[in-house]
Amino acid sequence: MKFENTLNFAQQLDQEDPLREYRNQFIFPKVNGKEVIYFTGNSLGLQPKNAASYVDEIMKDWAELAVEGHFYADKPWWDYHERLAAPLAKIVGAKPSEVTVMNTLTVNLHLLMVSFYRPEGKRFKIICEEKAFPSDQYMIKSQVRFHGYDPAEAIVELKKRDGEHHFRQEDILQTIAEVGEECALILIGGVNYYSGQVFDMKTITQAGHDIGAFVGWDLAHAAGNIALELHDWDVDFAAWCSYKYMNSGPGNASGCFINERFHGVKDIPRFEGWWGTNKDDRFLMKPEFEPMPDADAWQLSNAPILALAPYLASLQFFDEVGMPALIEKRNQIVAYLEFVLQEIDKEVESTFEVITPASQEERGTQLSVFLHGEGRQLFDYLMKQGVITDWREPNVIRLAPAPFYCSYEDMYTFGQILKQGILQKNK
Ligand SMILES: *Cc1c(COP(=O)(O)O)cnc(C)c1O
Repeated sequence: MKFENTLNFAQQLDQEDPLREYRNQFIFPKVNGKEVIYFTGNSLGLQPKNAASYVDEIMKDWAELAVEGHFYADKPWWDYHERLAAPLAKIVGAKPSEVTVMNTLTVNLHLLMVSFYRPEGKRFKIICEEKAFPSDQYMIKSQVRFHGYDPAEAIVELKKRDGEHHFRQEDILQTIAEVGEECALILIGGVNYYSGQVFDMKTITQAGHDIGAFVGWDLAHAAGNIALELHDWDVDFAAWCSYKYMNSGPGNASGCFINERFHGVKDIPRFEGWWGTNKDDRFLMKPEFEPMPDADAWQLSNAPILALAPYLASLQFFDEVGMPALIEKRNQIVAYLEFVLQEIDKEVESTFEVITPASQEERGTQLSVFLHGEGRQLFDYLMKQGVITDWREPNVIRLAPAPFYCSYEDMYTFGQILKQGILQKNK
């Protein structure tokens, strides 16, 4: 499609957008009395309007039923978390039995490493990407130290080439082959949080298995954003947070994928708790742990129902729309945003460099843009004008037009505000 950088054209794209009604299902903050242009759905998704009623339902059940709510609420609490598995399984390409929701992301990655990072003999190394999200770096280093190894020896970072913004697939595969039988685990962010690069999870998982390593993925920036086929790719495990593209609310619960190959395996190391026991016997309070026959065996505590309620609310939208439709809009709106940036770039003296891969297979919703010649004051200007972006040093803004609630008109208007901000500074 040939794009135009005009209000009319953007509005026409909105009219043709099959998802346009969903924008009204989300609550936008206001700046200067106007709804913001929200580019940070990759950090905290907007609140769906149905979230409050799901939370209210729990508050009401708690008030009216108290402890009886565990069994007699309309949506009983004792197995409430199981309601999330089927819609999540569709989003991540898994069987519902392979998905569970519990704790928070970093906690879950630690718990999953108990099962999947089992250094022994010369096989003790972990391959991860350089400059991974800080929590992942801390998590991996502390796990390595916990097992008595030196992070400098045990952690092998995938590197980008000098002056390049993306990891090259051939370099990744070469590192995997080089570490070979010393590799215990490969654990990478499926979508790099900084550049928005999507990794070829299928091929990397296969390469990891070929050298005898487990392969897990941190899907914080992938779940609800890109197409995932965790089961078919034979991924061992994965975890994601729900408050980014999945709009579940700040700090909310994390989802996990555990391949069915590990279900019912007796000798797998795992930290256990009563919510992981076979549910038919759970309240018999037996001294021996009998695991659930699926990913729920990794559950520990009774579930935080008030947190799961808005997560369940948001999954309703995903279930209605499905990932293919979201991805179709995502590809188009990101392409339009990129076009708008290129057009504005021609009109101002600064230069924008999109450091996210150009091909749709290698990127999701996020464009990370180097604003050469600009500083933080441009970011502050955008915020004052109601454009919510995210700034990373030195001068990269990350723009993630979430397909559920961002419009093409937003992209056009953003371009005009960006241009004003740059011209005004240069005056
Ligand atoms: C957002 C994000 C996290 C956040 O972890 P929490 O435990 O939910 O605070 C971790 N890893 C990556 C890659 C992220 O993008």
